[in-house]
Amino acid sequence: MDVKGGAPLPPAADRDRLVAATLDRYRRYLNPGLARLFRFGGSETVEWAAEGCLVWDVHGREYVDCACGPAIFNVGHRHPRVLAAVRDQLERMPMSVRTMPSAPQAELAERLAQLTPGDLQYAFFCNSGAEAVEGALKLARLATGRPGIVAMRDAFHGKTLGALSATGREEYRAPFEPLLPGVTHVPFGDADALEAAVGPDVGAVILEPIQGEAGVILPPPGYLRAVREICDRHGALLIADEVQTGLGRTGRMFCVEHDGIVPDILALAKALGGGVVPIGAFVARPALWERFQRQPYLHSSTFGGNPLACRAALATLEVLTEERLPERAVEQGARMLRGLREVQQRHPRVVRAVRGCGLMIGVEFAHPDYALLVSAEAGHRGVITFYTLNRPEVIRIEPPLVIPPALVDRAVDGLDGAVAAAAAQLGSLREADAV
Ligand code: PLP
Repeated sequence: MDVKGGAPLPPAADRDRLVAATLDRYRRYLNPGLARLFRFGGSETVEWAAEGCLVWDVHGREYVDCACGPAIFNVGHRHPRVLAAVRDQLERMPMSVRTMPSAPQAELAERLAQLTPGDLQYAFFCNSGAEAVEGALKLARLATGRPGIVAMRDAFHGKTLGALSATGREEYRAPFEPLLPGVTHVPFGDADALEAAVGPDVGAVILEPIQGEAGVILPPPGYLRAVREICDRHGALLIADEVQTGLGRTGRMFCVEHDGIVPDILALAKALGGGVVPIGAFVARPALWERFQRQPYLHSSTFGGNPLACRAALATLEVLTEERLPERAVEQGARMLRGLREVQQRHPRVVRAVRGCGLMIGVEFAHPDYALLVSAEAGHRGVITFYTLNRPEVIRIEPPLVIPPALVDRAVDGLDGAVAAAAAQLGSLREADAV
């Protein structure tokens, strides 16, 4: 029997049927547009199994996962310690009755207080990144009494109404306006623009320390320290959205540590559940929790902090620290960047830029069509990539932090071939257009 990632593949005769039935169900019951996107993206198959840095489709084809869901499999797919913790909790009590204290939730809050920088201490648990941002925005209003929020252009904070108000892409915002009042956007990296925007009504500045969906944009040196200083001077809180950058991805446990700053509120999600159970959180300085202390149900979530998710998160944090995954992100990130820059040198007209920090890497193409084609071609060569939501000409390279050098090299080779194939295809299309 053909076994991939510990799971037997379905009988050969059933595989094509499963693919056709799944795509048909997408068309009929989920969204025909999504089915079309899978087709254009070259993903007319069905995912089947995963382990470590590898994913197999229903045909048993193997892929190196360089997108990670995105950015949720920092410890790799199905890390044995995360699975063991989740199985143990599943057999005993996966969900909380919520009328008694839950030991895993309390332990996870303590662990996050120990790991997060400075005096960040109190945690609230939810189920996704957008929810973590919603909570952080609400807490900022509650603690300061000021309704204004300054966010960054091209930022991505999620798509619930509050988080969307801080998200900076017009295409996602416009159909849902009016959004939250009092939210303004300034260019990321421009301290003077921020200074001008933080008036007396502004309760918080929210940013990603490295912008992810904006196309992996690194801030200029000194910018984050300047933001911290502007917030302090104007009495505004600083919310660091580390939903994507957090938990080792950029080479430090939290990205703000590169600049030595402590935000007032830190939002987490994605990788926190080890890629096994969804969980989000926001963690704040003690003084901000004063109203929550008086009214503990002022903000709440039925599933937030459930024991299953907290056990997954506790095991994930153990793996991240004991396996030194932030350091490994530095090492393998350098190798990946080197390899991708060589690809850029071979195809300078196609690849405009390669940039990143740790294993959060963006490859920018001369046109979004190239990004789409390269992603599809990379898939055909066994490498999973994904474009960034707010800048479709950039694809992200965010593999598990456990990736060994040999798989970094395999991913770079696959991308090299994909770029060459995309360049040839688009080149001949342009020539045909010119005739
Ligand atoms: N914040 C950041 C920085 C993100 O990258 C994302 C998702 O990509 C979110 C928030 C939203 O997270 P979720 O999709 O879990 O709601």
